[in-house]
Amino acid sequence: MKIQSYELKMLSAPLKTPFKTALRNVFTLEALILTLHTNTGYIGYGSASPTAAVTGETLPSITCALEDYILPSLMNSDLSVDSLAKIKRSIAHNPSAKSAAEIAVYDLLAKEKALPLYAYLGGKSICLNSDITISLDSPDKMLLDSVKAVRGGHKYLKLKLGGSASEDISRIDAVANSCSAILRLDANQAWDFETAKTVSDHCIARGYKVELIEQPFPAGRFDLMSRFKAESLIPLLADESVFSLSDAKRVIAENAADYINIKLAKTGGISEAMKLCEIAESAGMQCMMGCMLESPIGIVAAAHFACSSPAITMCDLDGVELLKENPVVSDTVFETGKIKPGKLPGLGITDIKFN
Ligand SMILES: [Mg+2]
Repeated sequence: MKIQSYELKMLSAPLKTPFKTALRNVFTLEALILTLHTNTGYIGYGSASPTAAVTGETLPSITCALEDYILPSLMNSDLSVDSLAKIKRSIAHNPSAKSAAEIAVYDLLAKEKALPLYAYLGGKSICLNSDITISLDSPDKMLLDSVKAVRGGHKYLKLKLGGSASEDISRIDAVANSCSAILRLDANQAWDFETAKTVSDHCIARGYKVELIEQPFPAGRFDLMSRFKAESLIPLLADESVFSLSDAKRVIAENAADYINIKLAKTGGISEAMKLCEIAESAGMQCMMGCMLESPIGIVAAAHFACSSPAITMCDLDGVELLKENPVVSDTVFETGKIKPGKLPGLGITDIKFN
């Protein structure tokens, strides 16, 4: 099977409510959709969204990385797992762009074997439980959004935080005192040690159901992460600190987190994510399958991947639920807080509605 041509198209999809974190505010999802056409008639889909604050990538940089470096390395050569190494070698960094290409290649490789992607990766279809993001806002607004999510059936809420200890405690108090959901707290690198410890101690003292604290400190502060892990009674999830296998090895070696949040847009796709899962599993560490604010293609790929590794025990794959409408038609079932990949070959995507 050879790739003969490709298309890159913009997909814009409005969000139900603005997505606000300590790093950015987003009102409309923007994604580049990659379509690979082959001599066999199989079509492979991938996508990438710009998350400049995390990966350093923008729409122009992703387009350039794909068109000038990554895709030329794949054109008119036989597709195999070796194609994944070509993607890796074609350009340094640019993980979202590489992930788009890898997802599309995996879609094709699984289609060639007539297997859904999770089965191609050695997994089976599992009904995944995902949290839903509650954007960073006033305590009243976060309470309102949380109550709505819980009434809708959500059991896990990811609260976006990133203010002072007193501001964030007001937010947590508002939600925890009125909602029965399990809380995940994500400060997106915005806290210092004292703030994180104050928030953690407060949640423990109040007996709140806080499952984890995600990336409280700047990405490079493994020292603070190790100290916090040793002193906090709430488990620590590393997100922006871990892109690659070497980052994961460092977390394990320095005892810097309890869990790792794996996102295909950080790892550069599925092949590196597999390596992260393997090392996490051998270290007895659980992982979360996460996503950027990205297109349903990326979410479907992440869901298939999450079904393939026992190391993944938590999911933060709410990207489709945040959209007013899902423009990607596939056999992956999305219900409130639940995702189940289907049985069609590859990603099971049958149509994309560009506006
Ligand atoms: Mg995060």
